[in-house]
Amino acid sequence: MDKSVRKFVALTSVLVLFSILMLGLFGYIYRYSTINTYNFILLIVIVLTIIITLLFILSAIAVFYTYRVRSVNRFLLKPVKLALKLLLPVVTVMSGIFKGSKDAVRNFYIDINNILVDSNRRKYSPGEILILLPHCLQHSSCSFKITNDIGNCKKCGKCCIGDIAEIGEQTGVKVLVATGGTAARNSIARLKPKLILSVACERDLASGIADVSRIPVIGVVNDRPNGPCYNTVVDVNKLREKLNTILKK
Ligand code: SF4
Repeated sequence: MDKSVRKFVALTSVLVLFSILMLGLFGYIYRYSTINTYNFILLIVIVLTIIITLLFILSAIAVFYTYRVRSVNRFLLKPVKLALKLLLPVVTVMSGIFKGSKDAVRNFYIDINNILVDSNRRKYSPGEILILLPHCLQHSSCSFKITNDIGNCKKCGKCCIGDIAEIGEQTGVKVLVATGGTAARNSIARLKPKLILSVACERDLASGIADVSRIPVIGVVNDRPNGPCYNTVVDVNKLREKLNTILKK
């Protein structure tokens, strides 16, 4: 049997066994418990619900305050981080359930994350920063292989890759065009940057920021005038401004 299938079967067996044990435990409690047991269980559920509600309220207030003042107060650091880890992903899922715009919530998530990173006020040398770009920024008619080396770009002006390559050359910051999430993760593991300035759509940025939680990521959302993943564009001036705020002079 294939190794991956064996792993799947083993983990599924553990899950089924655990479910059967839980079923047995609940059956036992149901058969022998008294009204006091039910009251105790209900009390635990109520206390847990109160704790979770308070955490959600606290992190929501912290996020709104941070959004208004555009800076993270050090007392609110933990609640804001909690909101980024729990509250905002839950709100994104809920937005999908209620047929709302997930991208609007993700935009908010990216904005709060950027404020959190900016609040560090730390400056980085060029070698510590990685500018990560999605492949869809390259013009579809371009035949140059820029995913291996952005230096292969001829700066013809058809897409914004040339301008961003220029920024990389002027500042000494490494610029990388990733073909997808796995390629981006591999490059991050290889280059070990201290900060990533990443361009992508809301979905990829939000998942990327959550993925590489150990490294601060500043997200810049691209524009998709031709639909998703095709000849996308990014405001190069905005990217340059962001880079200037974090680059050591
Ligand atoms: S700017 Fe560079 S990547 Fe864009 S189309 Fe021209 S050569 Fe290709």
